[in-house]
This record gives sequence, structure tokens and C-alpha cells, in this order.
Amino acid sequence: MSAPIIGIDLGTTNSCVAILENGVAKVLTNAVGDRTTPSMLALREDGKLVVGAVARRQAVSNPTRTLFGVKRLIGRRHDAPEVAELAGVVPFPIVRGPNGDAWVRLGDKVLSPSEVSAHVLGDLRATAETYLGQKVTQAIITVPAYFDDAQRQATRDAGRIAGLEVRAIINEPTAAALAYGVHKEGAPSLIAVFDLGGGTFDISILRIEDGVFEVLATSGDTLLGGDDFDRVLAVALRKEAEAAHGAPITDPVALQRLVDAAERAKRELSALASTEVQLPFLATGGAQGSGALSFQRTVTRAWLEELTASLLERLEAPCMRALADCRLEADRIDHVVLVGGMTRMPAVEARAAAIFGKRPVKGVNPDEIVAIGAATQSAIMQGQMGDVVLLDVASHSIGVKVAGGRFSTIIARNSMVPARETKVFTTTSDGQDFVSIEVYQGEEPMAAKNRLLGKFILGDLPHAPAGKVKVEVQFTLDCDGIVRVEARDLGSGKATSKKILASSGLSAEEVDRLAKGYVLGT
Ligand code: AMP
Repeated sequence: MSAPIIGIDLGTTNSCVAILENGVAKVLTNAVGDRTTPSMLALREDGKLVVGAVARRQAVSNPTRTLFGVKRLIGRRHDAPEVAELAGVVPFPIVRGPNGDAWVRLGDKVLSPSEVSAHVLGDLRATAETYLGQKVTQAIITVPAYFDDAQRQATRDAGRIAGLEVRAIINEPTAAALAYGVHKEGAPSLIAVFDLGGGTFDISILRIEDGVFEVLATSGDTLLGGDDFDRVLAVALRKEAEAAHGAPITDPVALQRLVDAAERAKRELSALASTEVQLPFLATGGAQGSGALSFQRTVTRAWLEELTASLLERLEAPCMRALADCRLEADRIDHVVLVGGMTRMPAVEARAAAIFGKRPVKGVNPDEIVAIGAATQSAIMQGQMGDVVLLDVASHSIGVKVAGGRFSTIIARNSMVPARETKVFTTTSDGQDFVSIEVYQGEEPMAAKNRLLGKFILGDLPHAPAGKVKVEVQFTLDCDGIVRVEARDLGSGKATSKKILASSGLSAEEVDRLAKGYVLGT
């Protein structure tokens, strides 16, 4: 038997691991008996690092040393607007790492998001090893379709730190479609994978035909997820609690209890029309009576839907963008597949149904389908799935900086990968004897607003008036997100090329050092 490759859905809120058993993907139960594991890492009072459900259980009493949602930081610069937004709402400190990336503080240590994720991955690996009774060293990990190369690379680093060779990074919606569609025969079909998890929203449109899975378009909102629904409800509850208390509630433990209660109520309201929030001794020292506040309120599904109306609204635009990108009308979609715990909220499901004009498919577990897809991909890679092929697309445009600082796209977003494209540029000043090729990734018209992937120089150009020397730039993008750029002076044929791999911010040495020092659960 070949060495196992495990499939991992490394989620913002929860993660899940699946393996292949007799050619069929199977989700594994972790040490505490759950099929998903909270993506959390905490430093307990006794100095011990704990992961998953154990970390979650002590979060309320130890909020500043309990890390969650770190996937929202992975591969991001500390000065990115999304980081500032997140820093305002999480109880743990987000700091500027030595390389300018967003890191987190845990006790007296600062950790990169890759290191934090490595602990979660290590826990999932241990779950698989316990089940299989053998060492596991290879994995396929899923990421949101919207992740750029740096975020993908940082995820790959997390795997390496956890002692896993990451055989592939695949998009979560692609994995879901694979899990949903791989055993279905028949006419070609168009699938919309509508994925609302704890932290992000992703929408992908795929075509399945004769075992070929082709992603036609992806879009999403990296700052829209279940956490936002929790927060909106928690803010409303806090206002009411403060009114009843007659004083502001600022104690971090009380605030965390409000968020937890909101999350629990939100989940219960997926099955019930109303539920109770009860928070005994939420705050002390208030203006009322004894000064201690025990807060209680009935929360209805209708109120939750009213509070979160603007979040529900935001689900539509990315869907329309994805449809427009592949020039399809919504009614052409054959099946809508729901992924992510938040799609259990009836208003979310209703929104998906309204956008695509059809009822989403039932009978797929939205928490597990992505991990099942990742394990299915391992079967494809090992040649166990016959002719199934997975075709993917570039999730961001890549191009070069041209005159005036503008961005000229060479490989457009949603191009099928691997991709190769060529464009010809000219010199812009008289006697210009070199050109600087600056490679960027993104969708902004000005290059500087996109992400710089790398740069190099093509020199020794012949002296000539502006516009006379022609330089051909060729981009090749492979399935792992590696860009190869070649620039050629069309007059002389002289060429320079460079392989560009997005940097996660951690050097290879740093990853190796962390991988050596990595000890699970210490
Ligand atoms: P995921 O990232 O897919 O694990 O999704 C986690 C998100 O789904 C969290 O925000 C959970 O609160 C939310 N969630 C889980 N179960 C339910 C449910 N039954 N109803 C509404 N939201 C849920």
C-alpha cells in the first residue's frame, strides 16, 4: 500500500481531516470524539499549549491567550486594512512580525500565523496517525479560492512546520464540487459552490463533464463569515445588557461570554424560531440594585435576520461577479452545493436559493464536504479515480508595471492553469538600455496597489529612440502558483528569465528551524 495522503480542510473556525479507505473518503473522529476540530491554539495558565476543543473550552476565561481565526491573517502584511479591521475585534494582540507580516502574540512569544496553523495541522495529523496506526507525512490542504500566492505559500509552510509534505493546495469550493460530483454520471452539469464558513465567503462556478472538473470562475468576500453574524448579535445583546446594567460592560471575559452566547443562539435559531440567552453574573458594579447583572433575553430568528440583513445582502454581489466572469445567467446553474456551517442558517440558504433560482442540493454535510474533496483529490493523484481530472483557474490576475505606474495584466484572473501568455512592450525613453520587469498580482489598475511578486532587469538593450526597442514578456503560471517570467529583446533575441514563487514572509531556513523545533501539544 502506498503511503497515505490525508485530506485537510484547514478552516477559519473549524478544521476537518479525511483519509481514503478502500478508495472511499472517510472523515475521522478526533481524540475528543468530534468530526471537526476548532482551529484554535491557547496558552493555558500552567504554560501548556493546547489545541482544538481543549483550547475552545478555556477561551472564555483566557481570552487574550486563546488564538482563533488566524487564517484571516495568514500571508498578510501587518499594515493591510483587513488586519487593522480584525485587530479591532479579536481579544488577542496582533503584532508586526520581524518581516512586516501580521503575527500574533501568545504569552511572551510572537508567532507567525503559519506556526499557529501548524499546531492545528499537527493535531489533525495525530488524529489520522491514531486511526491508521502509522506515521503520516503527506497531505492535501484546502484554502479559500480567493487566497493569493502568499497566503497559499504560508499555508504550505504551516504544513511543513507540522512535518507534512503538502502534495497540493486546492481550492475549497473545488474540493466540495469534487466530493459532490465525483460519483455522479451523466450529462455535463454546472455547479455553484456557495461556501459561507466562520470567516470567509466563497462562490465558485464549476463545470463537470466526463470526469473533468473545470472551475469556470471564483469570487468571494474574504471578510464575511459566521464570526460577523456572531458579532452583530453580540453587539445588540451588549447594548441591551448595558442598558439594564446602567454602566458600560468592558471586561474581556464578559465580552467573550456575550460573543459565545450569540454564536450558540445563532446556531440554535437554525432549528428553532426562538431561543433564550442566559448570562448569569455577566457584570458587577452597575447602577441597578445590587450592582450585579444577570442578563436574560429571548432571541428570535426574525430578530437575528433583521440584525444581519446587511450581511445577508453582501452574499449576492460576489455570486453575480462570478456568473458575469464566466458569462452565465444564474438560471443556467444546475446544482447549488452549500458548504460551511453558516449555510445551515435558513436565511442564508434562502438567499442562495433566491440568487440561483433553485433549491440547494440536500444530503451533503457542509462541515465535512471540503475535507472529503481533499481526500478524493489524493485518490486522483494516486491514480485511483480513473479518468477524473481537476482543472483549476488563476484566482488573481498577474502582470507587470508599465509607464505611468499602471498595471498591465498578462494572465487574467480566472484563466485556466497552467497558463502561458505573452505581451510585447516598447521602451519609453530615447537610449533606454534596460527595462525593469516588475511582476504584480491583483486587480487594481495601478501596479503599486497590487502585490509585488518580484522584479528583474533585462539589460544591454541597443541604443535607439523611444518606442523602437521591442521587449516580449512571457508569463507561465503552473498549477502550484509558480510564475515563470521571461523577457526577450525581439531585436537581438537576448532573454532573461526568472522563476517567481510568492514568499510567505518566512524564509526556507525559518520554516526548517520551526519544523525541527515543532513538538505537538507542548
Ligand atoms: P466552518 O468555518 O465551515 O466550520 O463554519 C463555522 C461557522 O458556521 C461558525 O460561524 C458557526 O457558528 C456556524 N455554524 C455552525 N453550525 C451552525 C448552524 N447550525 N447554524 C448557523 N450557523 C452555524
